[in-house]
Amino acid sequence: MRRPILAANWKMNMDSAALGAFLSRFVPLVADAAAVEIVIAPPFTLLDRLREQIAGTAILSAAQNVNPEESGAFTGEIAAGMLADMGCSYAIVGHSERRALFGESDAFVARKAAALLRHQICPIVCVGETLEQRDAGRALEVVAAQIEQSLAEVPGDQAEAIVVAYEPVWAIGTGRTATPAIAQEVHAHIRGRLRARFGDAANRIRIQYGGSVKPETVYDLMAQPDIDGALVGGASLDPEAFARIACFQEQRNP
Ligand code: PEP
Repeated sequence: MRRPILAANWKMNMDSAALGAFLSRFVPLVADAAAVEIVIAPPFTLLDRLREQIAGTAILSAAQNVNPEESGAFTGEIAAGMLADMGCSYAIVGHSERRALFGESDAFVARKAAALLRHQICPIVCVGETLEQRDAGRALEVVAAQIEQSLAEVPGDQAEAIVVAYEPVWAIGTGRTATPAIAQEVHAHIRGRLRARFGDAANRIRIQYGGSVKPETVYDLMAQPDIDGALVGGASLDPEAFARIACFQEQRNP
């Protein structure tokens, strides 16, 4: 059984006042959501405060990025050991915004994932095709190559610690969610690639869907056999909306 994982990616949003306001509304709303794992990835500046404020709850924290080096002259960067020191359980790597805006390659993503695993932090490894690649019929091929290269440095005995997030670039922040059938097709393909790489452990690796997930769309996505969670941007800034996403079983449309 794969435990559903619902993760908020706050990107470059929120400050300390907004964090407090969010949690005071959100925490009671998800108090009974014990069957799922709820993760919040705030900006680095809020990780310490988030850790303090989620103590005693089941909510876990994540970073939005990491540098693969252990320490040294890398001005402005944050190492995996520093995230472990902040109590992070997860870190997002390979988000399409970082790939597109900061030129991050699959090889760099692979080094980040390995660095996180060395510090017992679970990498959430993002993959996904652009609209141009989908329209050219290359979505499955592109995603398979990203999986192979971004996970190249994951040791076989740590495969179950990783989470994969399938985030079609054309669905991120656009309001355009992939249909459950489109998402399932890619998730099944990803699981096939994971099986080729890690064997039976692939059955225990969680694969999240991300791209304009809303309370209204989460139930049907989560009903797909290979969709094990959601990575949520815009809707996760609203405590009511993200709580409804976390409580996805209650969102079934009549
Ligand atoms: C994301 O950036 O990871 C994301 C899925 O964003 P949104 O939900 O806003 O599309």
